[in-house]
Amino acid sequence: MKCEGCGVEIQTEDPKKPGYIPENVLKEKIENNESVVCQRCFKLKHYNYLLPIKINSDFSHDIDKILRDFKTVFWVVDVIDFEGTFRKEIAEKLKGKNIFLIVNKIDLLPKSTPYAKLKKWLLFRIKEMGINIPDDHVRMVSVKTGMGIEKTKKLLLQTEKQKALVIGVTNVGKSSFLNRLVRGEITVSAYSGTTLKVLKAKVPNTDLQLFDTPGIFTQDRLCDFFDIYTQVKMIPSKKIKIKTFTVNEKNILFISGLFWLKVLKNGVNNLPPIITVFLPEEISAHRAKEERINDLLHNRKILFPPYNDNFDFNQIEFEREIVKIDKGNDIALPGAGWLSVKRGPLIAEISKPKEFRYVVRKSMK
Ligand code: GDP
Repeated sequence: MKCEGCGVEIQTEDPKKPGYIPENVLKEKIENNESVVCQRCFKLKHYNYLLPIKINSDFSHDIDKILRDFKTVFWVVDVIDFEGTFRKEIAEKLKGKNIFLIVNKIDLLPKSTPYAKLKKWLLFRIKEMGINIPDDHVRMVSVKTGMGIEKTKKLLLQTEKQKALVIGVTNVGKSSFLNRLVRGEITVSAYSGTTLKVLKAKVPNTDLQLFDTPGIFTQDRLCDFFDIYTQVKMIPSKKIKIKTFTVNEKNILFISGLFWLKVLKNGVNNLPPIITVFLPEEISAHRAKEERINDLLHNRKILFPPYNDNFDFNQIEFEREIVKIDKGNDIALPGAGWLSVKRGPLIAEISKPKEFRYVVRKSMK
């Protein structure tokens, strides 16, 4: 069987070789009579023809070179995955630039979200990261609903007349944002002196040219432990859900099939911690008794993603660590959502993939 995108022979054995597609996905496609494309073509289709790049040395060198030519940068991040997309590695590179931080996907936040408080929180996190972005350059938007877009566009055009670079982690909505700003001719070309391709487009009725860089893909977010098809399924499509759990001693709180915490000790006055979970409905949260761990780990209807039984847990190295988190703090789970400690302290053992990086932060709300 050949890939309908590039014509290469489809194979399910080696993700590093051309034509790869995970076996379960291939089966699903065949069963549903859907077209079969290899993982690489799928990425090309979903990442606007700029192949994503890794946060590592090639990213570093090439982005440094490109950045020399730009004063203004539009950095697109995802409010649901703020810690996974507002990243130190990127912040470091942008020091000294005129940055606009486009905080996208505001529509996914719960209805009750107080926006003024959220803005304050964003400014606080930005300062904590040691990066200088003027307050009115921090824009809360939803490309999907159009919220905040016109105002942001006006501000961008007032400030920058010539050219700006657009940067962001994959799936933050960078292409969607760009499509809102530009129309007509878009060209993709290699950026001279680098191995990167950039997408060049003009904002209509202005002299502003935008240069879009490939999405940066990470290796420490929850979504990164799954194949590309699962990653796309994990992208939230509706408002995130809020659920509150009282987690007793020795109880486990699972987030997906890859992350769980076990409460080791009750808090003040021997009261069990209370945790509010903010997650897209594509990612499960489930509280259980310790003795049920093994049963549950095999139950894809209760713990997901992964969404099917073929996922090979043995390919992931897990580690455990003990944490103490006070009330008023969140455990942000990049690539998923976050947990907020409402009654603490939370003294727990966390189990997670070794490469997965969670972040303890001041609570968002
Ligand atoms: P990119 O990889 O950063 O270029 O991201 P895309 O523009 O391809 O968007 C990734 C996914 O996020 C797509 O499924 C979009 O439909 C979705 N998306 C983009 N912007 C928004 C938004 O404002 N709200 C919501 N709910 N989804 C969005």
